[in-house]
Amino acid sequence: MSATLADIYSRIAVYPDLPHHLSLAGLVQFIKCASALHRDILLTQAGRHSSDMAPEYLPRSVEYFLGQVTDLSVEGVRNCWQATRELIWKKDVVTGLDIESVHLFKNFGHEIGLTLYTFYPPNSKCIVTTCSNFNKATLTRAEQLSIMLHTLGKGSVQASSVQLYCSACRTCYHHNFYVSNERCIYYTDILSVLQVSTHHFIEVQLIELWINSMLFAWTSASNCARLYNTALASVSPSASSTFAFSPFLQADEVWDAVICLCLLQDSQEQSTTLDVPHTGYQEDRFKEAMEERNVKELERYPQL
Ligand SMILES: [Zn+2]
Repeated sequence: MSATLADIYSRIAVYPDLPHHLSLAGLVQFIKCASALHRDILLTQAGRHSSDMAPEYLPRSVEYFLGQVTDLSVEGVRNCWQATRELIWKKDVVTGLDIESVHLFKNFGHEIGLTLYTFYPPNSKCIVTTCSNFNKATLTRAEQLSIMLHTLGKGSVQASSVQLYCSACRTCYHHNFYVSNERCIYYTDILSVLQVSTHHFIEVQLIELWINSMLFAWTSASNCARLYNTALASVSPSASSTFAFSPFLQADEVWDAVICLCLLQDSQEQSTTLDVPHTGYQEDRFKEAMEERNVKELERYPQL
């Protein structure tokens, strides 16, 4: 059940100054933004900290950001966090708070590395069963990268991805897959966003549009990319100078996204795991999996 106003007020009233400095809009933004940053908050906690428990302290960057968003002092942010952290840590509290926060992250978050969309691996502990750290300490060795998220409805949005490392077995965990012994192993569940290259993540809904455009309108991968960059991305041509990488999609990324999604859907149907080389040329990485899939299709339908 969602929290009531009486419940939230009783927690805030513990700090006598807080209700006088915090507006209703500020409280809603605080809850929404802190909830969106929960993995960033968790990442800075000690490895033994349970992910089910709301951390007692916020990272400094998050404190700064929440202060900018709500006009609260550092002390105000800390008190507000103490008052609301247990509510924020429960997912159902923020369900329904559909407030557009993109501009807040653009104005105050990007310069300190905080974005509304940050893509973490689905697991926070090592999942390699042969590793001595299997399902033990929370992985806190991380690398954050600036990326572009390409969506159907919101265009191309600046976002971040966080890769987690297990020091014991040297596995690197990404949003859709993990890399171990030079193999790239995809998670069984197909998430709503696919990572297709280091800096480009694409919504599955958009990839499905490209698949249908290719099937029914014979649109090439280059034209899918050109159409998206021109009509849907909403990124000005001058934006290139503000990124260390091109924010625009290329034909190769469209093609990789289409192949990757088809192979993932096929693996899910066959109850297998998509496992491709992590070395060699990018264009060759899916070759082996595609050939295997074609052989299986021929075995299933010999008349083809
Ligand atoms: Zn490990």
